[in-house]
Amino acid sequence: MKNYDFIVIGGGIVGLATARQLQQQFNHAKVLVLEKELRLAIHQTGRNSGIIHAGVYYAPGSLKAQFCRAGNVETKAFCREHGIPFRETGKLLVATDAQDRENMQDLLERCRINEIETEELDQQQLKEMEPNVTGVAATWVPSTGIVDFAEVTKKLAEQVVAAGGEIQTNCRVTGLREDQGIEVTTIQGLFHGRFLVSCAGLHSDRVIRMLGQKPDFKILPFRGEYFQLPGAKSSIVTHPIYPIPNPELPFLGIHLTPMIDGSLTVGPNATLALAREGYSRWTMNLADLADMFSYPGLYRLIMKYPMATLTELKNSLYRPGYLKLVNRYCPAIKEQDLLPYPSGVRAQAVRPDGTTLDDFLFVETERALIVGNAPSPAATSAMPIARHICDKVEKLID
Ligand SMILES: Cc1cc2nc3c(=O)[nH]c(=O)nc-3n(C[C@H](O)[C@H](O)[C@H](O)COP(=O)(O)OP(=O)(O)OC[C@H]3O[C@@H](n4cnc5c(N)ncnc54)[C@H](O)[C@@H]3O)c2cc1C
Repeated sequence: MKNYDFIVIGGGIVGLATARQLQQQFNHAKVLVLEKELRLAIHQTGRNSGIIHAGVYYAPGSLKAQFCRAGNVETKAFCREHGIPFRETGKLLVATDAQDRENMQDLLERCRINEIETEELDQQQLKEMEPNVTGVAATWVPSTGIVDFAEVTKKLAEQVVAAGGEIQTNCRVTGLREDQGIEVTTIQGLFHGRFLVSCAGLHSDRVIRMLGQKPDFKILPFRGEYFQLPGAKSSIVTHPIYPIPNPELPFLGIHLTPMIDGSLTVGPNATLALAREGYSRWTMNLADLADMFSYPGLYRLIMKYPMATLTELKNSLYRPGYLKLVNRYCPAIKEQDLLPYPSGVRAQAVRPDGTTLDDFLFVETERALIVGNAPSPAATSAMPIARHICDKVEKLID
């Protein structure tokens, strides 16, 4: 059995940022990263919108608000330092009616409290900036950027290895036992660490269970479907364009996103997936299904938002419904412009009473720290999250 100071579960951006931070914060620490797939960053980290968020939506004082603002600056600095392609595009939040305009004022106030620079644009200014976008007003957020988070993860992994760390792929963790340290059972054998950090994304609650704890939430998988516009329409907008979100469901809202590879995507929506890694509509996993449909929190969540649940499902199955949402602010996009693009699955932590956990959440035991909930903007926030984890680990080890 090989021994390490720290074992990190998860080869996504949060796991790799954490492994690097552990090496920096605990001098000469021996760090091992375990990833069940053959490659790093193939789940949430490699299947997202690629937005370096500014932090517009998050409740003042929340970890999300704090870490997103810091992460925005740090991600760009990291890309600059290591030659990773990124762009400071800024972003437009477009109000299309009087209700949107009212909700936009609340967002502007939130940005003011969160110290995020914004500018309010009138209809004319919006038209000048984005001639193909229609709205009655807009909010300009200059600090938003775009990047490929899988590239950021790749660079973090290189740094971990260069500093003497090990990364073991194709190495699913199947069991955990706390002793004076932590014994980790994997499909490639046993490993021993002084301390464990888990950044397992869509499987975070299962890792908590492996430690003999009962999490007071379950991860429910929500598929986000995207389309790509044809080459001729890939410059129809030049900035990320977002609708003004429903304040009750701020993570919903199909947006237009120029990607770092030059393509332009539309999406994502949010419909329940039939597997935690169910990237196509009919991908099912029986264990995941049993887990999901035996959970009262799922039904209570649906009862809380019956209209949103039905609308998201309808728009997933009925393309004109999906298109209508985009046409509210970009009428030039036609149904035939919606070309296939890979989807992503969000790990959404839900309590038994059906409430969604909005903020980042961490669970501790004597020898382990588990990232329980790391939804968007966790890719943007990965570096501050990693620092937060290491500060907590330092206290736990003391
Ligand atoms: C559709 C969508 C759009 C998004 N858009 C944005 C955006 O624009 N900007 C932004 O900042 N964020 C965005 N996010 C959120 C962001 O992608 C995630 O919050 C972030 O990638 C989480 O990273 P992670 O490392 O925690 O999880 P993941 O990337 O999911 O990595 C977890 C890893 O753990 C591994 N693992 C799990 N269980 C085990 C086990 N038992 N043994 C070994 N390995 C295991 C998995 O294989 C996986 O590789 C989006 C997410 C989605 C789904």
